[in-house]
Amino acid sequence: RESLVPFAPADLHYGLRSEFMADKCLEKVNLVIGAYRDDRGQPWVLPTVAQAIQLYHDDALQNQEYLPIAGEQSFCKAAAHLLLGCEDSDMQNRKFSFQTISGTGAVHLGAVFLSKFLAVPKPLVYLSDPTWDNHVPVFTHAGLSVKHYQYYSTETRLLNFEGMIQDLQDAPRGSIIVLQASAHNPTGVDPSQSQWEQIAETMKSSGHFAFFDCAYQGFATGDLMQDSFAVRHFFQQGIEMFIAQSFSKNLGLYGQRTGCLHYVANPGSEASSTVQRVASQLSSLQRSEISTPPLYGAKIASLVLNDKTLSKDWLGDLATMSERIAKMRAELQGRLEELGTPGNWRHITTQIGMFAYTGLNESEVELLRTKWHVYMLPSGRMSVAGLNSRNVSYVADAIHDVVGK
Ligand code: PLP
Repeated sequence: RESLVPFAPADLHYGLRSEFMADKCLEKVNLVIGAYRDDRGQPWVLPTVAQAIQLYHDDALQNQEYLPIAGEQSFCKAAAHLLLGCEDSDMQNRKFSFQTISGTGAVHLGAVFLSKFLAVPKPLVYLSDPTWDNHVPVFTHAGLSVKHYQYYSTETRLLNFEGMIQDLQDAPRGSIIVLQASAHNPTGVDPSQSQWEQIAETMKSSGHFAFFDCAYQGFATGDLMQDSFAVRHFFQQGIEMFIAQSFSKNLGLYGQRTGCLHYVANPGSEASSTVQRVASQLSSLQRSEISTPPLYGAKIASLVLNDKTLSKDWLGDLATMSERIAKMRAELQGRLEELGTPGNWRHITTQIGMFAYTGLNESEVELLRTKWHVYMLPSGRMSVAGLNSRNVSYVADAIHDVVGK
């Protein structure tokens, strides 16, 4: 029987992480994992989150009961408000929010739902080219077939907007279109607000279903409202959608697996009954998969999002993270330009969010790892959060050395 089970391929991110841990070189630099590090290269517990943990401590000692199947409602409501920017009463009839196992669990739950309830032949799922490495496995695992739409131009290092719109128009009517709401992973390139408006129009005229993935709200512009523009605009345009929302990055709750799946129905007299039917099926799926979602992260997030002082202080924490990342981008670009490294490095600062899509090819990335002990994804994606004032020059020297080799 054992021989019937082939080995699964090792996970790229976690494989590199193990290799990095085993690397004995003192200068080694980890630019793989999409998690914020402070300027000492250490994981950072957001000060507002640390305060919420203190506040929750006594309650936690009194109560470790199960949450409802749909999760902690004070958290879900605040999470929806953060994304959609309107009061619960304004959206009551059109949406339902569900606590999930972080952003990945939200994408998974939405994918399983679509796979189960959309009529055969099941619509295709369109993902940006390139996209987060886990999108293809999550959607295919749910029994859906994926295709890519054009997104990033390797020549211009900008959004290939015409190509994107063309592919959305050419996709069969009623396709599922996965859109990253802000700070696109891995490219750091987002549509502008007017481009989002055109994307929404195309989605409407093609009858597509929008599946937003929002893992970096607050990381693109540092402004939570601006970073959820696309989602709010689609909501106002009456487009039916799922929104997978993660608090891993913006609250630094990576290991607590804190997220939500929001379902938004088309407006109209049927909306309320559609929402109730979808919610009942999501409940049933959630119950069979995880029974109820985890307590701790949701309680902490709820405290931060619902408390006036904490939620205000949180903006300061977001600024600390995004400003440090921006500073590292500027220093890396400046140093590469100073060294005269062949190529144009302006994209390091024009790209946004946690990642830089450096344009380094696979063999350059390999040489960075083997010769310089600098780790990044083979696609050339660098987690800028892994740079700090001690290693940024070293990384620039390493890149300078490997380019063109
Ligand atoms: N979506 C995107 C685009 C991501 O980059 C990530 C994490 O890197 C996620 C979803 C899921 O994150 P998590 O499951 O930690 O919330």
